[in-house]
Amino acid sequence: MAHQPAHAHTVPLHQPWTHWLLLALLVPLIAACGGNSSTTAPTTALAPTSAPAPTAMAVPTEAPAPTAAPEPTAAPAPTAMLEPTAMAPGKTIKIVTTMSILADMVKNVGGERVEAENIIPIGAGPEDYQPTPQDAQKIAGADIVFYNGHGLEEWLDDLFKSAAKPGQPQIAVSDGLEAVDVGSADFKEGNPHFWMSAANGAKYVEKIRDGLIQVDPDGKDTYTKNADVYSKRLLDLNAELKQQADAVPAAERKMVTNHDAFPYFAKEYGFTIVGNILGNPEAELSAGDLAKLATAIKEQKVKAIFSESQFNPKVAKTLADEAGVQIIANLYTDTLGDAGSGVTSYIDMLRYDMKTIVDSLK
Ligand SMILES: [Zn+2]
Repeated sequence: MAHQPAHAHTVPLHQPWTHWLLLALLVPLIAACGGNSSTTAPTTALAPTSAPAPTAMAVPTEAPAPTAAPEPTAAPAPTAMLEPTAMAPGKTIKIVTTMSILADMVKNVGGERVEAENIIPIGAGPEDYQPTPQDAQKIAGADIVFYNGHGLEEWLDDLFKSAAKPGQPQIAVSDGLEAVDVGSADFKEGNPHFWMSAANGAKYVEKIRDGLIQVDPDGKDTYTKNADVYSKRLLDLNAELKQQADAVPAAERKMVTNHDAFPYFAKEYGFTIVGNILGNPEAELSAGDLAKLATAIKEQKVKAIFSESQFNPKVAKTLADEAGVQIIANLYTDTLGDAGSGVTSYIDMLRYDMKTIVDSLK
């Protein structure tokens, strides 16, 4: 498929870290093998300061990458000395997010001070997610939880009740945003897919920044600076997406979507949603409703039906055949893509979706 060129901002960062990552992996390994200080000495001697070594060694678990990786960038540079009062070695704020999109946002705001664990796997949707015992463990170990809210993750209530630490902040990042479709049968608290507008994404960033400052006041300057930089990128993106949408005449910016994930996208970028095959992914349309939708597509000259990577496009295909239009089945809404998809960040996702939509309507 015509994925946009991979330009994920995370890729280049990995390269200078590679040997540090190896170091972080090797040091505990060597230690575990009974090596004495003489074995490890040549390895640790590579570190110019004594500070980073204990940090890397303090993470002998199977997932050292997120914790250990950010440290080495600071280690060899003289700037490491500028942060003597930062966190205790190895101390990072443990964050749990529900969606991969939120995990990406949190990493952008939290940087090296946070360790983000996500609940819903890549490729799965939030509405019909079934939590696992491992999810309860994640919640139990979290310093703070960020979730979307507006009823998107109804399954979260039970996890909070059974597993949350007392006093754990649980932040619904969509709180305070004005919802559409309030009181509809599908989304009782209003449509929760706010993040499909980059302008709303910037609002999420404010909530994330404030939550992080709440649990880690020492990081206030870092979080504020990171949030400012990232918000600006999102607002620049928003302007760029509006410009791209303008390539399609306003009257032709019509979409039929698989699940009802695009109202904020449509509002922000000037599209009209003619209909949805599924309101909520848990619901289903009757044959009669499908026929009506096919008629609407023909009458309103909708050029394409859009579905997403996490859904089986079978019903969308039936409808597309019936209405005689194309189906674009590989958009991303509720989840980022896997490593090879080119859609591994929130910014990538919105860019990819807009390009795919505009290309199919032009
Ligand atoms: Zn959804």
